[in-house]
Amino acid sequence: MSKILVTGGAGFIGSHLCKKLIERGDEVICVDNFFTGQKRNIEGLLDRKNFKLIEHDIIEPLFIDDKIDQIYNLACPASPVHYQNNPIRTVKANVLGVINILGMAKAKKCKILQASTSEVYGDPIVHPQPESYNGNVNPIGIRSCYDEGKRCAETLFFDYHRSHNLEIRVARIFNTYGPNMAVNDGRVVSNFIIQALKDEDITIHGDGKQTRSFCYVDDMVDGLIKLMESKDFTGPVNLGNPGEFSIKELADKVIEMTSSKSQIVNKELPADDPKQRQPEIQLANEKLGWEPKTDLKDGLEQTINYFREVI
Ligand code: NAD
Ligand code: UDP
Repeated sequence: MSKILVTGGAGFIGSHLCKKLIERGDEVICVDNFFTGQKRNIEGLLDRKNFKLIEHDIIEPLFIDDKIDQIYNLACPASPVHYQNNPIRTVKANVLGVINILGMAKAKKCKILQASTSEVYGDPIVHPQPESYNGNVNPIGIRSCYDEGKRCAETLFFDYHRSHNLEIRVARIFNTYGPNMAVNDGRVVSNFIIQALKDEDITIHGDGKQTRSFCYVDDMVDGLIKLMESKDFTGPVNLGNPGEFSIKELADKVIEMTSSKSQIVNKELPADDPKQRQPEIQLANEKLGWEPKTDLKDGLEQTINYFREVI
């Protein structure tokens, strides 16, 4: 049994991770400021003896007396709508917040995992993206607070590793979806499902030819835990499902699976929106024995069922 701190534990991925760790018998401390997280995501955990919630913003220093064995750092808004809402706070979460949490890991002498992102590759010219690709990121655009913030967070992780011998793990997470995404999350899978269930227009940005590779949340949590438990491996390692779909294909699939009467409408493509994205996952496979098991249809089915109940 380990004592594990999960920042961003009330968010979409964090809540699934907390649940899995609690079920395994670990003690979990969830730290969240509820910027994009939701109480409902962790409601089922609040009365468990081995679960503790601390409402806190990681931009501010955090002192905890308990011994801690592992930290998963997920605290950061992940949807473009939310991370662009207050871009300076997004940078702060990824720089000041990450320094605070790395400082805690140093003091506790514990392992720490960073939820990094495929956005470190920006609008990639190399396709699919291997970990060795250094990316094509605009440093001054509307996505930069997140992209450059997450890149700086990776830098900090590796500098703490080199300077203080900290045991780090860096996961580059590709588009992940599933139950517990907030109704107002704003990312494409939840938006399309909610629009389809309400028979409202499906809003495709641009012509819908841009691609993404969608990973179901259970597979992602499995990969994150495998990475944390791995020996002598820092990453960075891509975690994602290599199945690549255009946004138009996703819209068609969602309409079909929900038997929706929705029409597709095309909206303006936001600046710097990556044209293609697909993870190369050979490294995760070799080092962690990990690959995703859930195909898009099965994952969408579970997510559609979730949103049917929620809305
Ligand atoms: P999410 O927005 O649902 O969860 C983020 C959580 O962090 C929320 O509970 C939010 O309230 C909390 N949070 C935000 N800023 C905070 C702060 N300053 N202090 C404390 N808590 C804070 O997003 P998610 O999809 O669950 O993403 C989790 C992590 O994984 C994020 O770091 C994100 O960048 C990363 N990631 C996610 C994806 C994806 O497709 N879901 C892809 C790449 C990376
Ligand atoms: N997108 C869209 N309609 C929406 C939301 C998003 O067409 O209602 C597009 C978005 O412009 C991008 C892709 O879907 O090309 C994935 O967007 P998301 O916000 O989910 O994540 P990203 O990978 O861009 O961070």
